[in-house]
Amino acid sequence: MSKPFEKVALLGLGLIGSSLSHAIRAYGGAKTISGHAKSAETLKIAAELKLADTLHADPAEAVKGADLIILCVPVGACGALAAAIKHVVEPGAIITDVGSVKGAIVRDVGPHVPAHAHFIPGHPIAGTEQSGPRSGFAELFQNRWTILTPVEGTPQPPITALEDFWKGFGAKVEIMGVEHHDLVLAMTSHLPHLIAYNSVATAADLEEVTQSEVIKFSAGGFRDLTRIASSDPTMWRDVFLNNKEAVLEMLGRFTEELAVLQRAIRWGDGETLFTLFSRAREIRRGIIAAGQDTAAPNFGRDPARKG
Ligand code: NAP
Repeated sequence: MSKPFEKVALLGLGLIGSSLSHAIRAYGGAKTISGHAKSAETLKIAAELKLADTLHADPAEAVKGADLIILCVPVGACGALAAAIKHVVEPGAIITDVGSVKGAIVRDVGPHVPAHAHFIPGHPIAGTEQSGPRSGFAELFQNRWTILTPVEGTPQPPITALEDFWKGFGAKVEIMGVEHHDLVLAMTSHLPHLIAYNSVATAADLEEVTQSEVIKFSAGGFRDLTRIASSDPTMWRDVFLNNKEAVLEMLGRFTEELAVLQRAIRWGDGETLFTLFSRAREIRRGIIAAGQDTAAPNFGRDPARKG
């Protein structure tokens, strides 16, 4: 296990930034934490919750003396933040991030990383639909994957140090290429969110009377979609603006599959429906077998109510 970092700068103190703070306090990984957030309100809450040893309205002040800098802001805000800190980044410091898209981070942050620092983009595949500084918790990353996409030429010691930092919180770490990351996540995360947003929007467009029935009789499927669709709009706007090609590719495939289902329903082709649903069920079983979710009915919550 690598030595803990001397000082980590958490730039952005929402769900992921505050969870990192709690995780560092609970499991180690850095001796001191400095924090930055955009609004005075978040800085006030961060002070109340003691999310950092020092808090700064100016991100450059938070970065001074830090050997690990983590950008924990929406993907679209990372470039400007990197530009605002570049003149104070210490020699040998690691600059990483937690953004849900990696190609755009390399494009926007990469040009601002000084030659004397290491740039190792990252993405914890862990989250909830909550956001803001009060939503974080230390166990968020436990048994979840964190993907690191180091840029070419990054030496091994800083990669190992960052891997160990995440592993200290119980995360599993995988190294991946930037483009591959964006394609995989387009399928496993971005497309499902788009479907959830669109399903809820469809229900919202229904006549008033029917809309109230949608809420009243909301069963498991729709309730789960509304949970996903309540995720932070800024974060998700930035994901779709910045992972355009991969999302459009997956959306194209999805639309083709949907047309197959539509046709099967129209022509009463039960065999096609049954085969497709059975294949989907196998994938769900695979996710449970890999320890990525619980086998308990309805995710183990609300046992009395089935949807
Ligand atoms: P969040 O809870 O909404 O927090 C965002 C933080 O970024 C807040 O502290 C906010 O400050 C700050 N911020 C926003 N715009 C900024 C700007 N222009 N300049 C400086 N700071 C700014 O978001 P989050 O869920 O932690 O997401 C942060 C990153 O993690 C995103 O890139 C997202 O893609 C990635 N991620 C999210 C999840 C998830 O499930 N939520 C999972 C994995 C990765 P104020 O509060 O002061 O506005």
